[in-house]
Amino acid sequence: MTRLVTALALTSCAALAARGGAPALVARDVYVMGTRATLAAYAPTRDTGRAALDTALAVLDETEGELSTWRDTSRISALNHQPVGVPWQATPTLCHMFAAVWQWYEATGGAFDPGIGRLLEAWDVHGEGAIPTREAARRAQSLSGLSRLSFDSSRCTLTKHADATIDVGAFGKGEALDRVDAALGDSAWMINLGGQISVGGPTPAGGWPVAIADPRHRDRPFLQVRLLEGSLSTSGGSERNLVVNGIRVSHIFDPRSGQPARFGGSVSVWHRRGLAADALSTALFVMGPDEGLRWAEAHRVAALYLIPAGDAVRVAASAAFQTAAGVRVTGLE
Ligand code: AMP
Ligand code: MG
Repeated sequence: MTRLVTALALTSCAALAARGGAPALVARDVYVMGTRATLAAYAPTRDTGRAALDTALAVLDETEGELSTWRDTSRISALNHQPVGVPWQATPTLCHMFAAVWQWYEATGGAFDPGIGRLLEAWDVHGEGAIPTREAARRAQSLSGLSRLSFDSSRCTLTKHADATIDVGAFGKGEALDRVDAALGDSAWMINLGGQISVGGPTPAGGWPVAIADPRHRDRPFLQVRLLEGSLSTSGGSERNLVVNGIRVSHIFDPRSGQPARFGGSVSVWHRRGLAADALSTALFVMGPDEGLRWAEAHRVAALYLIPAGDAVRVAASAAFQTAAGVRVTGLE
């Protein structure tokens, strides 16, 4: 945080300064949506900056209350408990969200598939990690995937055909950041929500300085980038990985095989929308750099892989990443 504030203090926020007076930078570190978050805003006064951060936090809290699978009272928990064959009515906001979820599920050929709640449960991905028996794994796989549900976008209903559950891990943060984007007005803001960073409002000159972590040591920055607009989501290299029987296992699964994804690096995706960046970084992690870069080129998606190679880390970016409007790589750490 100190680094961010120092870097920003050296950067003038031309768009805000033009309205008179030097803009004030306010920042806050919080724990929200099960992860650490840094919120920062440039505003004409400290009070308006603080008010912007209060609004952002309220939106994040509300989104967590709606999407959390930990809370039995959340709407997603209600969906996960919905009996098979009985349509579940989504609110307009969740209907909009599920339309995007289905879109990315289909576009990525199921590499992004949040319908794998049962599979993640069998491997205890949100707990200590466990290797399921062959029978438990087979059963979990037979109850996994968005193909076990149908989404009627005109009626805004979801209907389960098997006892599948939704895991929001790969898209909930992005959805929350999109809701913040819709709620905040004039302030220039940046939120780092457990590794996914979104910015909005008038961009500080040169953009917001952020770092992409070393995939082998999540707390060590590896690449410096500047974010001008939109959202940058990184998947992999996470402390959320599991250690099962002494073996490090990814918390990201390949829904097609039902096995943990094998890629040992990380992938960052920039997209104007947070949910899209979030879903796509997970999907491209599952695909790995070879298939993933081909897919990213074909779909003009801005993706950057960090690929551990011996003691070094290789950087491989899609053409869209190199020309993306919202992100610039400024250097190695
Ligand atoms: P992210 O860190 O955004 O890549 O999301 C990873 C989280 O999403 C995991 O911790 C799981 O909760 C969930 N997840 C794992 N694999 C997948 C997948 N292939 N598609 C959708 N969600 C997944
Ligand atoms: Mg994701």
